[in-house]
Amino acid sequence: MRVHFHGAAGEVTGSLHEVEANGHRILLDCGMIQGSPEAERRNADPFPFDPARIDAVVLSHAHIDHIGRVPLLVKRGFRGPIYTQAATADLLPVMLLDAATLAEADAARANRHRNGGPYLPPLFTREDVHAALAHVRPLRYHARTQVAPGVEIVLRDAGHILGSAIVELWAERRKLVFSGDLGPKGSPILRDPTPVREADLVLMESTYGDRNHRERAATVQELGEVFEHAAREHGNVLIPAFAVGRTQEILYWFARHWDDWGLSRWRIFLDSPMATKVIGVYGRHEDLFDEQAREVWRSKPHPFRLPNLRYSETTEDSQAINRIESGAIVIAGSGMANGGRIVHHLRHHLDRRSTHVVFVGYQAEGTLGRRLVDGARWVRIHGRDVRVGATIHTVGGLSAHTDQRGLLEWYGHFDGHPPVALVHGEDRAREALAGEINELYGRQAVLVRPGTELEV
Ligand SMILES: [Zn+2]
Repeated sequence: MRVHFHGAAGEVTGSLHEVEANGHRILLDCGMIQGSPEAERRNADPFPFDPARIDAVVLSHAHIDHIGRVPLLVKRGFRGPIYTQAATADLLPVMLLDAATLAEADAARANRHRNGGPYLPPLFTREDVHAALAHVRPLRYHARTQVAPGVEIVLRDAGHILGSAIVELWAERRKLVFSGDLGPKGSPILRDPTPVREADLVLMESTYGDRNHRERAATVQELGEVFEHAAREHGNVLIPAFAVGRTQEILYWFARHWDDWGLSRWRIFLDSPMATKVIGVYGRHEDLFDEQAREVWRSKPHPFRLPNLRYSETTEDSQAINRIESGAIVIAGSGMANGGRIVHHLRHHLDRRSTHVVFVGYQAEGTLGRRLVDGARWVRIHGRDVRVGATIHTVGGLSAHTDQRGLLEWYGHFDGHPPVALVHGEDRAREALAGEINELYGRQAVLVRPGTELEV
């Protein structure tokens, strides 16, 4: 068995690994490259293999950097099955149709400025997404499945987002384990990542290989204090949040701390049609929740049906929220405020001193979220300069990725500390993690690059 590394090998996005086993070719993930416009242009490049010669695809989870090029793969000739956990299978249409809509809008904008040049097609369309979805075969965790003759897999819970999986793969009497993205221990709603004992080669993510997160309890307390503060000032609270995971997590904390945070005095708005769709998927997969979540669902207000929670669907619903002067908590996408409905709310409320903006996730370079977190006093929104009078809060510690400690612990469960290739991490993170693995377990980790091949 051989593994060919094509993507997320020396960077975080574009996860794409090819396994050659028993005369068959299996892809682990087929993700989109995300980041600068130059980096994202690489998504349209030909695949480093012939898609028609791939026998099957296995997707670890529904984040775009792990699934985003699947429609392109099918469009370019892939005809086999796509295996993934059942909740991921339900999230695929939500995520991919959103990506297609963005790609179509990008292409339309580019074509308006092409000055007689050739027509630029979108990376993929909604039709391409529907064609790809016809190949999806949902699997349960722990069920052993043959994905090609002589190649079997089992998916285990990775605790990263709903449906996220660690992939165990057997072929030619050898065993490969792909971590996918690993969640932190004790994250809300989800179970902890499953420890695995045996492997001949481990592909492990290394996103936070060089750092440890702060304690979650401190983060949650900090979040509660924002509402105290904002209530005293009779302001609004704006929370930019990603549609998958973070939004549901926030609602879970609201339910759990309903009384102590005095949330009944607020009007809460979820202004994200995509997050609303994702909540529907959560509702169909409550069997994947951990014990603590079941307890919250039993004994607290239902996180997704809080008595004062309103789901806003239409643009008019969203605009109506803008007119509320005080007492509103608004959760809306995008998580980095570089698009989506949250931008409109920021434009209307950022200049007020009583407004509180709470960032609960990573803010990438170049985004509006990053400029606010960095303390900008003026920002440009929709071509207008807006003064920042609001209080900006950065609540760390809610990452969906485990940290260095968690990665070392997960790898430490493997008997005999097998060979390990570090993927899905920038070099600084991978090098730090490799150093720790060597020190603790006496194993020299391989830092793979696009084009690296490893024999299992
Ligand atoms: Zn992920």
